[in-house]
Amino acid sequence: MPLTTSGTAACSSCKFFDAEGGNTALGLCRYNPPISQPTGETAGVWPKVNAMDWCGHFEPATT
Ligand code: SF4
Repeated sequence: MPLTTSGTAACSSCKFFDAEGGNTALGLCRYNPPISQPTGETAGVWPKVNAMDWCGHFEPATT
Protein backbone atom coordinates (compact mmCIF):
# COMPACT_ATOMS: atom_id res chain seq x y z
CA MET A 1 0.00 0.00 0.00
CA PRO A 2 1.62 3.30 -1.05
CA LEU A 3 1.89 6.06 1.50
CA THR A 4 0.13 9.31 0.67
CA THR A 5 2.27 12.37 0.23
CA SER A 6 -0.05 14.62 -1.77
CA GLY A 7 -2.15 17.50 -0.50
CA THR A 8 -5.45 15.90 -1.46
CA ALA A 9 -5.76 13.69 1.62
CA ALA A 10 -8.05 14.57 4.55
CA CYS A 11 -9.21 12.49 7.49
CA SER A 12 -12.80 13.44 6.75
CA SER A 13 -12.64 11.54 3.44
CA CYS A 14 -10.54 8.63 4.69
CA LYS A 15 -12.05 5.18 5.17
CA PHE A 16 -10.50 4.97 8.66
CA PHE A 17 -12.20 8.16 9.93
CA ASP A 18 -15.03 7.50 12.40
CA ALA A 19 -17.05 10.67 12.96
CA GLU A 20 -18.28 10.85 16.54
CA GLY A 21 -22.03 11.19 16.82
CA GLY A 22 -22.36 13.07 13.57
CA ASN A 23 -19.62 15.55 14.50
CA THR A 24 -17.88 16.10 11.19
CA ALA A 25 -15.10 18.33 12.60
CA LEU A 26 -13.55 15.67 14.86
CA GLY A 27 -13.41 11.93 14.66
CA LEU A 28 -11.52 8.84 15.66
CA CYS A 29 -8.82 7.29 13.52
CA ARG A 30 -9.44 3.54 13.27
CA TYR A 31 -6.31 2.71 11.30
CA ASN A 32 -4.55 1.15 14.30
CA PRO A 33 -5.86 -0.55 17.44
CA PRO A 34 -6.48 1.68 20.46
CA ILE A 35 -3.40 3.08 22.13
CA SER A 36 -2.70 3.10 25.87
CA GLN A 37 -5.10 1.76 28.41
CA PRO A 38 -4.67 3.80 31.60
CA THR A 39 -6.02 1.07 33.88
CA GLY A 40 -7.43 -2.39 33.46
CA GLU A 41 -10.97 -1.07 34.01
CA THR A 42 -10.89 1.61 31.30
CA ALA A 43 -11.09 1.31 27.56
CA GLY A 44 -8.16 1.94 25.26
CA VAL A 45 -7.87 5.32 23.53
CA TRP A 46 -8.44 5.81 19.81
CA PRO A 47 -6.51 8.74 18.35
CA LYS A 48 -8.78 11.76 17.86
CA VAL A 49 -8.15 13.63 14.64
CA ASN A 50 -9.40 16.82 13.04
CA ALA A 51 -11.36 16.39 9.82
CA MET A 52 -8.72 18.40 7.95
CA ASP A 53 -5.78 16.39 9.31
CA TRP A 54 -4.27 13.60 7.27
CA CYS A 55 -1.45 11.10 7.43
CA GLY A 56 0.47 8.87 5.07
CA HIS A 57 -1.96 5.99 5.61
CA PHE A 58 -4.86 7.89 4.03
CA GLU A 59 -7.16 5.77 1.89
CA PRO A 60 -10.25 7.27 0.26
CA ALA A 61 -13.56 6.19 1.76
CA THR A 62 -15.90 4.39 -0.56
CA THR A 63 -19.65 4.83 -0.28
S1 SF4 B 1 -4.94 9.86 10.56
FE1 SF4 B 1 -4.52 8.91 8.56
S2 SF4 B 1 -5.48 6.88 8.61
FE2 SF4 B 1 -6.34 8.09 10.30
S3 SF4 B 1 -8.24 8.97 9.47
FE3 SF4 B 1 -6.60 10.48 9.16
S4 SF4 B 1 -5.77 10.08 7.09
FE4 SF4 B 1 -6.98 8.28 7.74
